[in-house]
Amino acid sequence: MKTILVVVAVSVSVVGLSSCARVQVPGPGAGVEAPLPHEPLPPLAFVWPEDRRAAVSLSFDDARASQADIGIPLLDSYGIKATFYVSLPALRAKLPAWQAALAAGHEIGNHSVRHPCTGNFPFSREKALEDYTLDQMATELDQANAEIEKLLGVRPVTFAYPCGQKFVGRGVEARSYVPLVASRFLAGRGWRDEAPTDPAFCDLAQLMTMELDGLTWDQLKALIDQTVQHGFWLVLCGHNVGESGRQAVRTDTLRAFCEYVRDPRNGLWVDTVATVARYVAEHRTFPARR
Ligand SMILES: [Zn+2]
Repeated sequence: MKTILVVVAVSVSVVGLSSCARVQVPGPGAGVEAPLPHEPLPPLAFVWPEDRRAAVSLSFDDARASQADIGIPLLDSYGIKATFYVSLPALRAKLPAWQAALAAGHEIGNHSVRHPCTGNFPFSREKALEDYTLDQMATELDQANAEIEKLLGVRPVTFAYPCGQKFVGRGVEARSYVPLVASRFLAGRGWRDEAPTDPAFCDLAQLMTMELDGLTWDQLKALIDQTVQHGFWLVLCGHNVGESGRQAVRTDTLRAFCEYVRDPRNGLWVDTVATVARYVAEHRTFPARR
């Protein structure tokens, strides 16, 4: 009973932080009150391994070339494992690089066959979720898994919703495709949510996910501090990797992150979405789905 009360209190507190951050200051991580480094923190509702205070997962979408060319070598130089939700044409275009990434311990996840999003995006008008059925979505989820398994020899265990959108159809005929993801994958990752994931409460098929693209180190550090304060799991998603540009994870931010998390005094567990999700499923007292 005591544990349940703690979980509720923590959840309410984070909702408050999220709303304040959005109202007060635009931009990721802005307006979040961060604790002083290494100051004593309250006991957590969820216990991470090896006395870590929080978990962080880095994920990158669409198998963009700069991930293989810049991002993975940088991560490998620090021994940090990330999750890559791949576009199938891009996977085929640099297959040896993605085979090497897998061999180095990174996770390769399912990101659909056609990357369908709402038809309000012109690029998705011919493959609009509004025009999809659940049967079509189920078939394509399985096709993507089969193709990745054929190319890399591993079957994906986690999925990233293209554009973070989780529906098919329109109006009264609209349906969530979360159950399709839940029945096929250990976890489903979102996009542009407003807060970290609470491991003691979350639905693993709808992981809260925050944007990594464009963040300065100070902005990312504020998100990390918020996550540590509550003992949560920060799931991050980026696209390109480079010095600057649209949808790009800044290399200086990524390097600063790698330097920061290698210090065990900072209390972070950094691992793939699949590895952290498996730990959460096996260790929380909340009656987990799997
Ligand atoms: Zn994508």
